[in-house]
Amino acid sequence: MKLVEFFNNYSNEAECKAEFRRLREKQGVICKKCNSKDEYWWLKSKELYECKKCGFRMSLKSGTVMENSKLTYQYWFIAMHLMTSTKKTISALEMQLQLGHKYYECIWGMMHKIRLVMGKRDDLYQLNDETEIDEAYYSTKYIFEENEFTGQKENLKRGKGSQKKTSVLVMASQKRIQRKKIKPNQDTSYGMPKYLKMKVVENGTIEEIKSTTEKSVDESSSIKADKAKAYPKSFRTYEKVELYDMSKHESGKILPWSSKAITNSKNLIKAIHHAVEAPYLQNYLNEFCFKYNRRYFGEKVFDRLVIAAVSFVWY
Ligand SMILES: [Zn+2]
Repeated sequence: MKLVEFFNNYSNEAECKAEFRRLREKQGVICKKCNSKDEYWWLKSKELYECKKCGFRMSLKSGTVMENSKLTYQYWFIAMHLMTSTKKTISALEMQLQLGHKYYECIWGMMHKIRLVMGKRDDLYQLNDETEIDEAYYSTKYIFEENEFTGQKENLKRGKGSQKKTSVLVMASQKRIQRKKIKPNQDTSYGMPKYLKMKVVENGTIEEIKSTTEKSVDESSSIKADKAKAYPKSFRTYEKVELYDMSKHESGKILPWSSKAITNSKNLIKAIHHAVEAPYLQNYLNEFCFKYNRRYFGEKVFDRLVIAAVSFVWY
């Protein structure tokens, strides 16, 4: 959505709130207590939903990404707009300046919640077709450190962590396009990137790689991976697996889309967010993948994000 259009539609808090309620009801209001869907009264004077089945009352924000947030609806809409309309991304500090808000922490928190929504939405889909799988290492800060006297892990003050490499499983699918043959037996097919998933792996064990892959990649897919990194045993459930000895190949040729995604996401994170803290890396990757997977949606990315946000549930 263009900026002018955005401010025409969301020019004040009342409009944002009304739009939020309209979208929430369109997606379906689910009672937090008895799970019944679309069985409610809207109590206008109290601004609460009351369940017709069990009488439970909940606020407009309750059960959505905005639950417990004191920030205005308009802030949330502006944040979702800025995060989806910029080709790259925007830092929390920049967002705070744009919103003119006094505190950094709550803006930072809001942006992370939006990234959780993005991740949860992409988790609804699995990759298929030809899928490249690679493991990459991102520089992160580690904010928990062991106290040498007690052996307990302590939460260090934000921004003061030590350096750490965090391992990420990168999965990129491609579709094969056939060009018209000029000579017989000529291979005229070429690949075009489709979708992307990036998942932080804690320990990088065979079991962890296996379960992460199985959640993310459909079993009918054919897999291409680095022989050394991608543990052949992790891909047992897949019929078609091609493993390459990458010391003999250029990774850009064998795994072109995952290699590009790794380079681009690392550059972006470094340029906009600088060093990110290990526990939050997944959220930044969620944002990168969400936008990558919707790169041809144009202005619709914002609408899709808002719909995902109103139907996001914490429980
Ligand atoms: Zn109920």
